[in-house]
Amino acid sequence: MIGVGDMVLLEPLSEDSFLENLKKRFDHNEIYTYIGSVVISVNPYRSLPIYTPEKVEEYRNRNFYELSPHIYALADEAYRSLRDQDKDQCILITGESGAGKTEASKLVMSYVAAVCGKGQEVNKVKEQLLQSNPVLEAFGNAKTVRNDNSSRFGKYMDIEFDFKGDPLGGVISNYLLEKSRVVKQPRGERNFHVFYQLLSGASDETLKKLKLDRDVSKYNYLCLDSASVSGVDDAANFRTVRNAMQIVGFMEDEVQSVLQLVAAVLKLGNIEFKPESRSNGLDESRVKDKNDLKEMCELLGIEQSVLERAFSYRTVEAKSEKVSTTLNVAQAQAKTRHKVMGVLDIYGFEIFEDNSFEQFIINYCNEKLQQIFIELTLREEQEEYIREGIEWTNIEYFNNAVICDLMENNQNGILAMLDEECLRPGTVTDETFLDKLNTICAEHQHFESRLSKNSKFLTDHSLPHNCFRIQHYAGKVLYRVEGFVDKNNDLLYRDLSQAMYKANHNLIKQLFPEGSPAKINLKRPPTAGFQFKASVGTLMRNLQTKNPNYIRCIKPNDKKASHIFTESLVCHQVRYLGLMENVRVRRAGYAFRQAYEACLERYKMLCKKTWPHWKGPARQGVEVLMADLKVPPEEYSYGRSKIFIRNPRTLFFLEERRRQ
Ligand code: ATP
Ligand code: MG
Repeated sequence: MIGVGDMVLLEPLSEDSFLENLKKRFDHNEIYTYIGSVVISVNPYRSLPIYTPEKVEEYRNRNFYELSPHIYALADEAYRSLRDQDKDQCILITGESGAGKTEASKLVMSYVAAVCGKGQEVNKVKEQLLQSNPVLEAFGNAKTVRNDNSSRFGKYMDIEFDFKGDPLGGVISNYLLEKSRVVKQPRGERNFHVFYQLLSGASDETLKKLKLDRDVSKYNYLCLDSASVSGVDDAANFRTVRNAMQIVGFMEDEVQSVLQLVAAVLKLGNIEFKPESRSNGLDESRVKDKNDLKEMCELLGIEQSVLERAFSYRTVEAKSEKVSTTLNVAQAQAKTRHKVMGVLDIYGFEIFEDNSFEQFIINYCNEKLQQIFIELTLREEQEEYIREGIEWTNIEYFNNAVICDLMENNQNGILAMLDEECLRPGTVTDETFLDKLNTICAEHQHFESRLSKNSKFLTDHSLPHNCFRIQHYAGKVLYRVEGFVDKNNDLLYRDLSQAMYKANHNLIKQLFPEGSPAKINLKRPPTAGFQFKASVGTLMRNLQTKNPNYIRCIKPNDKKASHIFTESLVCHQVRYLGLMENVRVRRAGYAFRQAYEACLERYKMLCKKTWPHWKGPARQGVEVLMADLKVPPEEYSYGRSKIFIRNPRTLFFLEERRRQ
């Protein structure tokens, strides 16, 4: 074993020793390390020969701690307790952009697919589950400065299994797609993969049908300086995606509809407007060159005059709702209760120089995940203690509930105040929102009301103009309010959705249900923040019913390079992922536990009375062993099926003796 495989057993424990151990293991290609049952994964940025079918066999049906740390061990443990003990599982994968979350989620899925049932029907379902990835990535991933294949949405997938543990299908929920990327990308970044894939991979005939030109530079939405990504073959990926769509279950005409839509978006991006003077003295915007507009309308079956009008007029009071973001891959049919394994691949904590509404929302989600982590880890510990009949000792830990409350409290949480501001009549700007925030949060600070939560709302004098600052569990974050109101309103003028609804194109119609004449009198749709909060709430309730498995991904450098371990960067992530806290919680009670049989098997050689065969219950054998080795009794406790060892040193002592 290179270094220490389980950080819980690290001695002495400090941030330095933690980092040193991680680095040592990374340098020897050991990218996985445990904290108890949590898997830390450090992105190697190159393909390692550790995901072969032989590896799958090696980890299959083995105990978690038997082999060196691996993501397969976690996947195996989760799958087996789902199958054999009927416990629903969730796999929670966190880490910053480029840390390897999506790759980890795919490794878990492919491991489970490899070890679960066989047979034609089952294999078809497996294929569908696995092939959902390229489809989602084409439409939801893009090259960013941080990651050539960055997921621009959060993803949660429930995989359903029957009583035998064979997969039945999956349900995927998406969270907060970065829609703005379609229109504009930061320098050095790309639009969503699908645009480039289509242009370089589609046949001449297809492009002609879609009225597209193969030349990327013809489209305003596709920035020119980074049209291709090194090591990425857009054309080949297009074929993969086309094939994947078919496997997932798209009919050919549905695929065509989707591609028409993609083409229409590119056309839309090329439409330019010019002002035109009217007799009433006001300027009105008019479409400059009508060819793109015409082609877009042809693709979508919209009457040109309808769309043109919608582009130039707006009915002011109308506001529309966001497109629903749930996509079903394959809904399982039977009514019986299914076993479920949920896989969550969601954006990690973001602290940029410039943090906006998106970061606020993402960080809110991470606070909630941290909450659930604390709750579930402690609960799991507690339950194991109760199960094993071990006395429970309280563990001191930082509870971030106060921060969640500051963000989500229904009355005076920041999201609620933003909503209130967005719905208020009169002039609403980002500044009026900030004023409100400052007044209310500061007020409560004065009165030291029960809302002492506001100690996490930092109001020091160094605050730049237009900003507020929150003390997150992962660190202080400065948010600039510019755009908060608009982004929260998520405004799409009703004229546009009505025009879209009139399209003679099924997919488009479905995407703009709010454009239906039947919906004209609907009240204002919920804000983006409100919707996100609701979906995070649903997600959290879902996760709470499941047994959690954690994968904490770490990015070793910001060059997307192999073999480089930038300590300061890793240190930062270790801090905000709360990994030290994690080790502390794990060590606060009993650092190590092992089933009596396993313990006896491993250490029976240390004692004449147990060697070579112990006749009798394993627990008695372990008792004899401990007494014979003179391990101080306060160092361990006997549970129903396991021995609990308080201090890692005791374990080292045992291991040391074995080596002698
Ligand atoms: P984002 O939040 O931007 O979506 P992410 O955490 O999902 O980031 P990934 O896309 O999973 O990051 O990983 C980024 C890249 O790192 C991958 O495209 C791949 O090149 C490399 N990578 C990640 N994990 C591994 C691994 N286990 N083995 C080899 N390469 C990996
Ligand atoms: Mg990702």
